Amino acid sequence: MKAIVIGAGLGGLLSAAKLSNAGYQVEIFERLPITGGRFTNLSYKGFQLSSGAFHILPHGPSGPLAQYIREVGADVEIIRSDLTTVRVPLKKGSPDYGKGFKDISFSDFSTLLSHKDRLKIALLIVSTRKNRPTGSTLQAWLRSQFKDEWLVKFADAFCGWALSLRSDEVSVEEIFEIIENMYRFGSPGVPIGGCKGIIDALESVITAHGGKIYTKTEVSKILVENGKATGVLIDEEAYKADLVISNLGHGATACLCEEALSGEKASEYLRRLETLKPSAGIKICLAADEPLLGHSGVLLTPYAKRVNGIDEVTQVDPRLAPPGKHLTMSHQYVAPENVKNLEAEIELGLQDLREIFPNKKYEVLLIQSYHDSWPVNRAASGTDPGNETPIPGLYVVGDGAKGKGGIEVEGVALGVAATMKKILG
Ligand SMILES: Cc1cc2nc3c(=O)[nH]c(=O)nc-3n(C[C@H](O)[C@H](O)[C@H](O)COP(=O)(O)OP(=O)(O)OC[C@H]3O[C@@H](n4cnc5c(N)ncnc54)[C@H](O)[C@@H]3O)c2cc1C
Repeated sequence: MKAIVIGAGLGGLLSAAKLSNAGYQVEIFERLPITGGRFTNLSYKGFQLSSGAFHILPHGPSGPLAQYIREVGADVEIIRSDLTTVRVPLKKGSPDYGKGFKDISFSDFSTLLSHKDRLKIALLIVSTRKNRPTGSTLQAWLRSQFKDEWLVKFADAFCGWALSLRSDEVSVEEIFEIIENMYRFGSPGVPIGGCKGIIDALESVITAHGGKIYTKTEVSKILVENGKATGVLIDEEAYKADLVISNLGHGATACLCEEALSGEKASEYLRRLETLKPSAGIKICLAADEPLLGHSGVLLTPYAKRVNGIDEVTQVDPRLAPPGKHLTMSHQYVAPENVKNLEAEIELGLQDLREIFPNKKYEVLLIQSYHDSWPVNRAASGTDPGNETPIPGLYVVGDGAKGKGGIEVEGVALGVAATMKKILG
């Protein structure tokens, strides 16, 4: 059996590793000169920056991605990060109130609430396990339960960091799936070697099983015969296969086979795709001689104007920076209406960093923005239609097809695992 994978991003490589392990003859076609898509390293001034991700796996060494890569035989060490912290104003009543901030543990977020609201949270934790809230956004649900705007700020920082969305763009169902997965799989971690550590290990598995990876090779069409996917077209040449896996997201995949998408099922699918929205964001990479954060966990910054969170991966893997240097990266959500004003958004992010690190010396290494066809996520979490298409033999993997409750690459791994189960049984 032969499988063609379009795109050598994380989703494509995870699929190819499993299929080549299962005895499929696999060919991967990638339009860029490099593999890994938005999940690989970019060497810059001796630092290992990245094409997208923050070198962080949301559920560390016990999450779905870590489990999947172990299962296919990819050898990568993943180290659990320190606890996530949250920067909050100094406690009301303290002499410095209004003048400064302190960092608290993520799990202590409720200490900023009144005793009554803390009790209510404890009760909701129990009651929502059986009766999940439905039918609203996270923000609307929080406001229906609590009067304290701190919870909305906190939710916006978490959703901005983890999903590049605001709390009024995430359904309450999706957030409860995510919370369940946080309990089930645990907290974040960093792969040694950064994102590329994982990409290189997957490529070794694929090539060891005879799989072939072609870069600088763009697929222009998905071939469909008698209603079934039968291969792809590259430079007017047909490449045939029993199975086609697309790593491009549903929208771009549909564009490659739009002539074959007719009939009621296909029309319904295309209508659904019109509702999918990519999420946008800005990453600012800082270099410093002294640690800026000083721990390997994430710092969420709910009181910043734009920055949602910051990590310092060199606390786990110092080789991601030149000797003696530290690599610190911030992420900020960009609202759809602000994608046209990226320079102003970047300036607000830089101002935030000056306020978050007021007495520290650092160099801004690189500022990267992500939107439209190179987004943070191809489809907002919890909104995509899964991995199948109306065309038998054509599947979609990657961050445009994560399914429910999977944060970023953990969702990519969950979606690929579900797809492989459908194909291989
Ligand atoms: C700023 C930022 C920070 C992030 N931080 C994190 C993080 O810390 N942790 C985390 O878990 N996730 C993070 N993510 C999300 C994570 O990077 C993505 O979920 C993941 O990389 C998506 O992988 P993918 O395989 O779906 O898509 P992609 O990486 O986009 O791969 C698709 C590939 O297909 C190729 N392609 C497209 N069209 C064609 C064609 N016609 N023919 C051939 N090839 C084609 C593309 O060039 C690309 O290489 C972050 C993303 C961004 C942008």
